[in-house]
Amino acid sequence: MPRWKCGVEGCGGRFEDVESVIIHQTTEHERHECKVCGTIVPEGYFAIRHAFDEHTRAEFVRAYEADSTAVRIREDVKDAVEDEADLNSVVQKLRKKGAL
Ligand SMILES: [Zn+2]
Ligand SMILES: [Zn+2]
Repeated sequence: MPRWKCGVEGCGGRFEDVESVIIHQTTEHERHECKVCGTIVPEGYFAIRHAFDEHTRAEFVRAYEADSTAVRIREDVKDAVEDEADLNSVVQKLRKKGAL
């Protein structure tokens, strides 16, 4: 069973490697509008990265009516992706496709 799953609500897609998940999320899911600042970002990993790099945990919790568990799950996802993914190559691939 492929070890990475998409994680976007209602999707259930599974992938062999993390780069494929990010590319899938960015190209096949609708964009996400940040509830804190209104910026349109790709769904999935990039939405999480935007929320936690650009905003404080408190802003995130307030805007998304999230609890600390929801924050921790997203932080774990972000760490796991960043440990494993070659993000530069993912970003380059996505730029080539015109998806970023
Ligand atoms: Zn998906
Ligand atoms: Zn934002």
